[in-house]
Amino acid sequence: MDEVVELVLNEAELTSENPLKVALGQFERAADALDLEEGMRKVLRTPKRIVTAQVPIRRDDGSIDVFTGYRVQHSMARGPAKGGIRYHPDVTLEEVNALAMWMTWKCAVVNIPYGGAKGGVVCNPKELSRAEVERITRRFTLEISDVIGPQRDIPAPDVYTDEQVMAWLMDTYSSRFGYTVPAVVTGKPLEAGGSLGRNYATSLGCVFTIERAAQEIGLSLKGAKVAVQGYGNVGYHCARILHENGCQIVAVSDSRGGIYNANGLDPEEVLAHKRSTGSVAGFAKAEDVTNEELLELPCEVLVPAGLENVLTRSNAARVQARIVAEGANGPTTPEADDILHDRGITVIPDILANAGGVTVSYFEWVQGLQQLFWSEDEVNSRLQKVMVDAFDAVWNETKSRGIDMRTAAHVIAIERVTSAITIRGIYP
Ligand code: NAD
Repeated sequence: MDEVVELVLNEAELTSENPLKVALGQFERAADALDLEEGMRKVLRTPKRIVTAQVPIRRDDGSIDVFTGYRVQHSMARGPAKGGIRYHPDVTLEEVNALAMWMTWKCAVVNIPYGGAKGGVVCNPKELSRAEVERITRRFTLEISDVIGPQRDIPAPDVYTDEQVMAWLMDTYSSRFGYTVPAVVTGKPLEAGGSLGRNYATSLGCVFTIERAAQEIGLSLKGAKVAVQGYGNVGYHCARILHENGCQIVAVSDSRGGIYNANGLDPEEVLAHKRSTGSVAGFAKAEDVTNEELLELPCEVLVPAGLENVLTRSNAARVQARIVAEGANGPTTPEADDILHDRGITVIPDILANAGGVTVSYFEWVQGLQQLFWSEDEVNSRLQKVMVDAFDAVWNETKSRGIDMRTAAHVIAIERVTSAITIRGIYP
């Protein structure tokens, strides 16, 4: 196991956008601010457990294929590990490692009793039938079933895994025990023990942080112009909720391009257009813009909710927004972070801004353990309290230490995880 860890950390191709390098860089910056001792840094840099699984399945044509799956548990110091599983051809162990570490910090920032994990299977779901995806899911679940569980590690959806995949995972895990174990996974369909409000929780949580940031910098959100990159689950619901709250959504985009109307767009009309054409691009009541142009448009709030590494040293100086709320994971490179901070732009970091999803996953887990389900209003009001408390803690840390919000969020998270490790003790 140790050899694997060393291999990952030493041989990773450390480009500036390598996620593991970025994650470790952010960690070291916060660890420096905390003056954290080297021994504790070693513990926190290293994942607690890495599982590499062979996932053999029979294809629809009868042939046998073998896929590789990973589950990385970065930390369990504050509770069971928590994190999504992605199915993508570009999944690597380095990436899963970095994402697992970010999950530890994300859960700690919002102060929910979880550690961090992430998983992935190297496969291309676009080239697989639904039945093949089901077989991969069930076999991968079996392969990791000794290390997951409601008190050990609780997976969730991520890139190209959805609530159906979570239902298969829950069903496979449950069949080993002979009874239903809903709390082994979150992001399940409502019929299989999912939570109300889960499908837009990331966006609602993001909006709560935008509202608090706006109050702090004296920005009125009534009529404020907002640009949203990515019009999937996170982007669409962010645009919808901000529009309902009186903002003007001036631009949105997806992988095929963006649209801009300085007088505002109706998110529902745009969604209808996307549903009928496959993209927001070409919407009649707007002009087309590129994804790059969208980031530099005149607006007060920018929500990158598509891909990682879109705000870079090449465009950060031209961002006009006063608030950047990271709906996506990792949309800002470290170089862009420094530029935006120097320009006085408030960047609400991903581990805070998009933590609403894992927070309502936590609520789903609690409901599943208790077999007592909450109303949507209860879910949302509890989410608001978690997000506002987390925002305020990070904001106060930012002000008291004179550091950017990303470093402040890491400082709080690392302090909480370090305290848990210290009080539990290094064993033996
Ligand atoms: P999704 O697949 O529903 O939507 C992704 C959107 O991004 C799509 O509209 C897609 O067209 C667009 N996109 C793809 N390539 C793009 C490009 N080159 N430029 C602009 N847009 C592009 O995914 P999602 O669940 O909305 O997740 C979006 C981001 O938010 C990801 O980074 C994800 O990790 C992060 N996130 C999601 C959740 C959640 O609960 N869904 C929670 C935390 C973080």
